[in-house]
Amino acid sequence: MGVRFACHACGRRLNVKSELAGRRGICPACSVRFRIPAHDTQTSTPIDASEAPRPDDSSVPAKSTAQQQRAHDSSIAANAGGSANPNPSPQRTSPPSASSTRPPSSLEDVLGGTSATWYVRPSSGGQFGPADGPTLGQWISEGRVADSAMIWRDGWPEWRTARSVLPQEQGGDPPRVEQNHKSIPAVRTVPAAPANTVPAAADPVADPDKPLRTSGKVLDTNKKKVSHKRVTSSVVLALVFILLLSALIFVVWWS
Ligand SMILES: [Zn+2]
Repeated sequence: MGVRFACHACGRRLNVKSELAGRRGICPACSVRFRIPAHDTQTSTPIDASEAPRPDDSSVPAKSTAQQQRAHDSSIAANAGGSANPNPSPQRTSPPSASSTRPPSSLEDVLGGTSATWYVRPSSGGQFGPADGPTLGQWISEGRVADSAMIWRDGWPEWRTARSVLPQEQGGDPPRVEQNHKSIPAVRTVPAAPANTVPAAADPVADPDKPLRTSGKVLDTNKKKVSHKRVTSSVVLALVFILLLSALIFVVWWS
């Protein structure tokens, strides 16, 4: 049993297993996407480009009869032979690459004044911000923001490299933010968006007294070890002394 319909784009007759009705399919002839109709229909329903893909709604590549013979578990079979799309892959929306946005000419334009909220992530780790435009400008002028550092501004869908955002105006290689990042105030707040690119990273600067505490503990432990050793050695010494004394008394007694 199957659902019989024709591709709405190329008219190819297709025969699809009825349990796949309502799912999305790809025409083996023209690779167009369609909604597999529930019953036999004249043509398939085109998938609107604006239709948001549902998570449980994976595209089912329609396969020709010849392919079905090869692929044992093929779920969709077209009832006509001919050319087929052997490997229709789901459309992938490639993320906008950082280089696709042309940086505005002036640094002030990029920074966006005091209303802007910036975050900086050096490649060495940690995160700095929020900083307004002038503050970020100061960091940049002090050479704290390396080209390789990732920066994010409120409203951006993703982090971008400083190289792709900031106009290259200073000559030479500025000192890297990793080297000076202790002087930049540490942040505990993480911008809400983009959530997928902002894992809660442990900020090495956020807890500056942690190493001190650790070394203090180590010192304490060492002290305890030393005093323990002292106690042990004095006890041993006392025992030896008592032993020698009793031996002496013994000798004197028997002589
Ligand atoms: Zn088609």
